[in-house]
Amino acid sequence: MASLDGLPPLREVIEEYGLNAKKSLGQNFLLDLNLTSKIARTAGNLEDCVVLEVGPGPGGLTRALLMNGARKVIAIERDERCRPALEQISQHYPGRLDVIFGDALKVDITALTGGLAVRIVANLPYNVGTELLIRWLTSPQWPPYYQSMTLMFQKEVAQRIVAAPGTDAYGRLSVLAGWRTDARIAFDVPPQAFTPPPKVTSSVVHLVPRAEPLQADVQTLGRVTEAAFGQRRKMLRQSLKSVGGERLLQETGIDGTRRAETLSVAEFVALANAV
Ligand code: SAM
Repeated sequence: MASLDGLPPLREVIEEYGLNAKKSLGQNFLLDLNLTSKIARTAGNLEDCVVLEVGPGPGGLTRALLMNGARKVIAIERDERCRPALEQISQHYPGRLDVIFGDALKVDITALTGGLAVRIVANLPYNVGTELLIRWLTSPQWPPYYQSMTLMFQKEVAQRIVAAPGTDAYGRLSVLAGWRTDARIAFDVPPQAFTPPPKVTSSVVHLVPRAEPLQADVQTLGRVTEAAFGQRRKMLRQSLKSVGGERLLQETGIDGTRRAETLSVAEFVALANAV
């Protein structure tokens, strides 16, 4: 029986092309088109933009993006075994799906999008997800080339992305994401929704770039947060020593007996600007 979109059900696709999941590639597939459609809808209106998807795999999310009206999907996949399954989708939606086979960490993504408005949507491989997010958040060009990012992470990572000061999850990732974007957890996804099921719950995070984040040099902000959270239990006058210590604290009026996790994003920006 065909699926909602007239293509064969994903379970059949996986069987036909022998796409047994490889742990080394972070493969946990989503086979329910209702769930992948929910992710696609979370990304917003896809009709007027290019969607960049990392790791389409057998194409569950890709199909949902196209079914929900994405004008074009550009997908980067490392696993050559997925070629025939993705080719079938491409034929079903002529001219609307381009797949680049390669490592998303090595492909120059900006060169692919041809200046069109972009939304990034992905059920990311867990082994490279955080690294990709940090790259997208630290883009030298700001506002960046993308309008939003809708990404699946392990719940614990998602909580770190959206964490507020004063919480255990608050750290470097929260400061970076909070500085440059409005980030929220859209919904959780239980392990059973994936094939094979991972050990932990996942969450879909939606991030929208701020048009005018507080002015700061991204590298310096990175160094300050690294120093502060590298010794998160220590007082700032100790943990910030390598980046300027007392002088920064005096210049910004921040109490040196405080700890990193109590500082707001604006206070981290002030420290970075004082370096
Ligand atoms: N999007 C599919 C879904 O939702 O069912 C698959 C998601 S699976 C969690 C991650 C996908 O990323 C796999 O297809 C894997 O082969 C691919 N992948 C892993 N590392 C990659 C990399 N460095 N660059 C591009 N794709 C990668």
